[in-house]
Amino acid sequence: MKFKKVIGQYEIKEKLIQAYHDNRVSHSYLFYGSPGVGKLALAIAFAQYMSCTNKTDTDSCGECPSCKKFEKLIHPDLHFVFPVISTPKKKSISDNYIQEWRTQVLEDAYFSYNEWLFSIASDNKQGSIFADEASEIAKKLNLKTFESDYKFMIIWLPERMNSSCANKILKILEEPPQNTIIISISDNHHDILPTIRSRTQPVKILGIEDEQLKRAIINQYNINESMASDIVKISNGSLFEARNQIITNDETEYNLAKFTELMRTCYSHKIHDAINLSEELAKNPREKQKGFLYYCLVLLRENFAYNTKLDSVIYMTNSELEFSKKFARFVNKENVNELVQIFEEAHYHIERNVNAKLVFTDSAFKIMKVIRKN
Ligand SMILES: [Zn+2]
Repeated sequence: MKFKKVIGQYEIKEKLIQAYHDNRVSHSYLFYGSPGVGKLALAIAFAQYMSCTNKTDTDSCGECPSCKKFEKLIHPDLHFVFPVISTPKKKSISDNYIQEWRTQVLEDAYFSYNEWLFSIASDNKQGSIFADEASEIAKKLNLKTFESDYKFMIIWLPERMNSSCANKILKILEEPPQNTIIISISDNHHDILPTIRSRTQPVKILGIEDEQLKRAIINQYNINESMASDIVKISNGSLFEARNQIITNDETEYNLAKFTELMRTCYSHKIHDAINLSEELAKNPREKQKGFLYYCLVLLRENFAYNTKLDSVIYMTNSELEFSKKFARFVNKENVNELVQIFEEAHYHIERNVNAKLVFTDSAFKIMKVIRKN
């Protein structure tokens, strides 16, 4: 990824490039800041820049053999560590999820922890950097560099590293092997274990500049200038925030209408209507199907919160609140977990290209079984 591909962030790009030319690159950085400002993209672009054999004063070339491997994230001196899930099927280490990781980053380097988990987990699992990862980290950092002058380890979300992994890698963080550059990327740096945090050089990554963020969302979503300006105003320089606003504006109404219809149909056991609705939902593009399922999940949780008064419901729009006044009582502690699981599984299967009509029909039948529990 070239610096050019990283949205805005001119000041920090310049600082990093300057540090490289002044020979002041730290062995262990901590890029911290809000989600969606481009920390991961910056880290990859910085590593690519340092490795590039034909760099300019402002960017890597994108063409040399090193850049070509970086562009596919397959350079042998580029290593990633990120939260994974624990499953009996395979060891809980990043390398076992590296294909999914590459696909995700190459498709879009601006993704959230939740989006990442959704792409690798089928249920309510939490991601973590587990103890098994420690020996992988040590092994990789002790390798000689293959092709680059440097070896890079990008640790995404070190706040999710468990303490036994952290303890095992303290020493290596203290004195990384020669020519090694570790870049940790944190959304919540206060949650990083202090022993890890103290061994890094913190670099705060601020929000994306307004103008650059505006250009980016106009290009990606084909929205008009004035709407883009409004969205940027409330997005705090975060591409995630901006996207959420766009999706909210655009699809809430549809999703709420379909969710209402789905719940009504299931509650009244109208099998024929459920099948028709499933067919209709299955005709939407895959991204829209996923968006709908994600929306259902969020709304279910909010309705449960509304019902139990556990939490605030300020995230709902007026029409959602109207809906919840009637619907929330159907989501209770007897069925909420099962309902959430149905939508999570559906999302997982859609993500993996399972036949959408089957997924929606199957989900509807499952909802029929649990919606009347109370
Ligand atoms: Zn290059």
